[in-house]
Amino acid sequence: MIELKNMEQFDRMRTAGRIVAEVLEIMKEVVKPGITTKELDRLAEEHIRKYDAIPAFKGYNGFPATLCTSVNEEVVHGIPSLRALKNGDIISIDCGALFDGYYGDSAITLPVGEISNDDAKLLAVCEESLKLGIAQALKGNRLFDISYAVQSYVEENGMSVVRDYVGHGIGRKMHEDPQIPNFGKPGRGPRLEIGMALAIEPMVNLGGYQVETLEDKWTVVTKDRRASAHFEHTVAIMENGPEILTRI
Ligand code: MG
Ligand code: MG
Repeated sequence: MIELKNMEQFDRMRTAGRIVAEVLEIMKEVVKPGITTKELDRLAEEHIRKYDAIPAFKGYNGFPATLCTSVNEEVVHGIPSLRALKNGDIISIDCGALFDGYYGDSAITLPVGEISNDDAKLLAVCEESLKLGIAQALKGNRLFDISYAVQSYVEENGMSVVRDYVGHGIGRKMHEDPQIPNFGKPGRGPRLEIGMALAIEPMVNLGGYQVETLEDKWTVVTKDRRASAHFEHTVAIMENGPEILTRI
């Protein structure tokens, strides 16, 4: 069942969303060659706790950190470590926070120093596919209109969307109904209504869409080990169109 939120609930989700957005703004400042993913994680947790908010991923199914940090061929769920970022890497940073009973969830992929043209295009295409998906989050549309907008743009650009991981409803729980695949046929799926809160999150690969999980049981990588990007926003469906909740 897809839970509809009222304006008071959305107010609280805006706060959770803004905290997450602030963390990702900090990440844009500090991601550079030499910094470790563990240090990024420390900065993120410190910022979230300043608000007496709770890092949403820490302890979630046993995940050990505040951020998911996924470098290069890592798609999602990378665990922060003493790995230092290198010039030419790309890093996907996914952050969730729980504040006053409600969740915010957002992700970005950042360049580390100078990156290849292929990787720069990957980041641009993934970010744009998220924008196009969000633009379909309209009252009266169908859920897979979002999915189709993401998939068609990505594939037009010669890249692929990950099938095994999807976006989700969000609110009092981090993962609520519905699941939001990044692929699908337009005009299908549940009808979108005012009050829905959706975490839309394209994961885009330069090569094939297939992925696998490493021995740490968390880190998801592309099967062909080519690069992957991930952008995500928590979005509210409002009378006047989509509102991005994970922004400053
Ligand atoms: Mg996320
Ligand atoms: Mg999510």
